[in-house]
Amino acid sequence: RGVTWGLLPRPCHVLVLLNPQSGTGCALQLFRSLVEPMLAEADVAFTLFVTERPNHARELVQAGDLSQWDTVAVLAGDGLLYEVVNGLMERPDWQAAIKKPLCTLPGGSGNALAASINHYAGNTRAFKEELLTNCTYFLCKGLYAPMDLVSLSTASGKHLFSFLSFGWGFISDVDIASEKYRQLGNARFTVGTIQQLAGLKVYKGRLSYLPVETSSSPAHEGSWPEDPLLVPFDQPVPKHWTVVPEEEFISIFAIYQSHLGADFTMAPMAKLHDGSIHLFYLKAGVSRLGLIKLFLAMEKGTHLGLNCPHLHYVPVRAFRLEPFVSTGLMTVDGEPLACEPVQGQVHDQLCRIISG
Ligand code: ADP
Ligand code: MG
Repeated sequence: RGVTWGLLPRPCHVLVLLNPQSGTGCALQLFRSLVEPMLAEADVAFTLFVTERPNHARELVQAGDLSQWDTVAVLAGDGLLYEVVNGLMERPDWQAAIKKPLCTLPGGSGNALAASINHYAGNTRAFKEELLTNCTYFLCKGLYAPMDLVSLSTASGKHLFSFLSFGWGFISDVDIASEKYRQLGNARFTVGTIQQLAGLKVYKGRLSYLPVETSSSPAHEGSWPEDPLLVPFDQPVPKHWTVVPEEEFISIFAIYQSHLGADFTMAPMAKLHDGSIHLFYLKAGVSRLGLIKLFLAMEKGTHLGLNCPHLHYVPVRAFRLEPFVSTGLMTVDGEPLACEPVQGQVHDQLCRIISG
């Protein structure tokens, strides 16, 4: 299989989608003061599109003619890129459209993909303007690489594409509950974590997965709209899958990139396109102190080294989660999803992203 790295053409024209509400509300200002001068220096032409509401960007990339742009950049948080990925996959010509190189320029409160790409490039940890400068520099250089996507289906028939994560329980609840602290930027997650620790909950359900090591073939690029590794919800998972014996969890989290935030290295082993879903689950019974130790270690990605008996990690190609309740929320790439049975599989190298 050809790994499709590439370089943007010169001259180059970029469509910049910007959410003025993302993060601390400074995205437009950051574009003018930081991004625009760098693009000018590198002779990269741009068209700026400022979103007016949720799904505005999704509708644009779903129906618009994108042929005049060499790349679509998103200056916002992960939420707006999630809209773009799903909008592209909803097009009749999705097969070609999803190959348009994408670019993440961190301007939100959750910039996990930008932090991951910064890490893959070998850079030290960076926040805010420094992270944005690094990512804008990647755009100016114009090198792109393939990136895996995960297709997720729900029992009620929803179909979503995810580039970052799927979660239920503790970590997802932090993400959702801390939305109201958006003004704090990245610090919203610290405040949210402390708040959620106070009211620690147990989440009951059945988790099943297909480990990378027992799956015979990689999840082939372009197999979508088929999800060849999955079977319908009314059938049990295939025999060679693993069903987790425990059914009480604090958190279940599937992540496909290294970082969940600028200072949150959840899957240090992850790569942009490794054909893997890095599945973590934390079983009920862990003490609050144990949980705090794990979260502090996640800043540097050393949590697996703590050998906490409640924390499990396995790289998988597919998973199914069947919650025993139908209330509350799950998250996909940090965005809320009503709680219901969900299953997903990785699609190797389905899209492309500007990287270092
Ligand atoms: P943050 O990282 O701060 O959460 P995101 O870019 O992830 O920023 O955006 C958060 C949400 O805002 C997304 O669900 C997106 O759909 C929505 N959104 C996009 N444009 C706008 C807008 N102009 N006004 C309000 N919400 C928007
Ligand atoms: Mg967000």
